[in-house]
Amino acid sequence: MSERTTGAGEAPHYDLAVVGAGAVGAFAAYYAVRRDPGRRVAVITHAGRGAGATRLSAGFDTPTGHNPAQRALAARSTALFDELSAGLGDAGRAPVDVRWLVAREHAAALDATMADGGRTRPVTQEQRALLDRMFPGLSHGDDQVLLATAPMTAGRPQWLADRLLDEVLGRPDNVLLEGFRVTEVRRTGGRVELVAADGSRITAAQAVLAPGPWVLDGPVAAAARERGARVKKVVAFHIMTPPPAGAPALVLEDADAFLLPHRPGGHWIFSITSPDWDRGPDEPLAIDTRDRELARDLLARHVPGFLPHLLGGRVFSDCFTPGHLPVVDTVGDGVVMAFGGSGSGYRLAPAMAEDALNLLDGRART
Ligand SMILES: Cc1cc2nc3c(=O)[nH]c(=O)nc-3n(C[C@H](O)[C@H](O)[C@H](O)COP(=O)(O)OP(=O)(O)OC[C@H]3O[C@@H](n4cnc5c(N)ncnc54)[C@H](O)[C@@H]3O)c2cc1C
Repeated sequence: MSERTTGAGEAPHYDLAVVGAGAVGAFAAYYAVRRDPGRRVAVITHAGRGAGATRLSAGFDTPTGHNPAQRALAARSTALFDELSAGLGDAGRAPVDVRWLVAREHAAALDATMADGGRTRPVTQEQRALLDRMFPGLSHGDDQVLLATAPMTAGRPQWLADRLLDEVLGRPDNVLLEGFRVTEVRRTGGRVELVAADGSRITAAQAVLAPGPWVLDGPVAAAARERGARVKKVVAFHIMTPPPAGAPALVLEDADAFLLPHRPGGHWIFSITSPDWDRGPDEPLAIDTRDRELARDLLARHVPGFLPHLLGGRVFSDCFTPGHLPVVDTVGDGVVMAFGGSGSGYRLAPAMAEDALNLLDGRART
């Protein structure tokens, strides 16, 4: 009988159950073990590793926020990513220059979003010449400006989640439970009991619930709805032409869209804001003609030379919250929920996970 089994017929017991093996769950499990290497952790996913939004994430990290709380999360995440890079040797992140196309009248508002307090500045002639080479046909209205910031980063979210989970699962007492769809989380006999769709169960002293876009169809659905959580389709097209060395990212700030050189794929990623609300992760999700028209319209206006290369892309669902501010909160004794990436959950995942553990461990939050 396993050490984790407390008696005949009893459910396996862990110190911490983490529901979710995406970016948020992987960080939570990793930080839990870092804080207390003796803590026995069960990471749970309803399918397998890489089943969620993290797998398809573009991994662009612009440390910005539209409100002070979001900026605090972004700044803390940047610090945590830096720590992680130093600790692991590689956190799958590469610097990328970032240029911003924004309405002149919104430039000050853009500055105010920078989590590090940094300022945008007009692109130099040299930078503009480079942009013209990288983005064929680059054009914009007289009322718009091209701005530059310090380099930001492009990451590999699924690679990183796997790397973090490997660290956790490399310890013999920790497990990954796959195909374990948690339907209920309840408190019994001083423990948190997690019940799966097939009736199997485990217990834990504490639990972090990080279900990503499945949040409205699981144990914290009611609490998430109360917080105004919704799901939405997230679409990032591929521009099938190789980004030249030194290519910057271009953020179309007013359209909430960006063009990011995707080195591992040998193409560009063109993220747009799809208008498809209330599309959950278990629905058949596809890039449709509405998304394509939106993308074509933006390219026609700003980078027409990319139009012939707009082919396919990546699409999934993500959980969005009011103000795009993630929810990290206690949902029961010893149970914390963390969701609401709102299309930026990779870049905010470290601070979300740290906050979740701080709540469980009685420490101050970010
Ligand atoms: C196309 C696309 C591009 C994106 N680009 C960016 C970007 O450039 N930058 C950025 O910061 N963000 C981006 N995002 C957003 C970001 O990827 C997500 O916000 C983030 O990955 C969410 O991570 P998560 O861990 O919360 O959820 P997920 O990665 O979806 O993981 C959820 C996990 O919970 C598990 N789970 C859920 N419910 C249950 C249950 N009941 N029982 C058991 N297990 C359960 C799932 O199996 C899964 O393991 C993008 C998203 C998409 C779709």
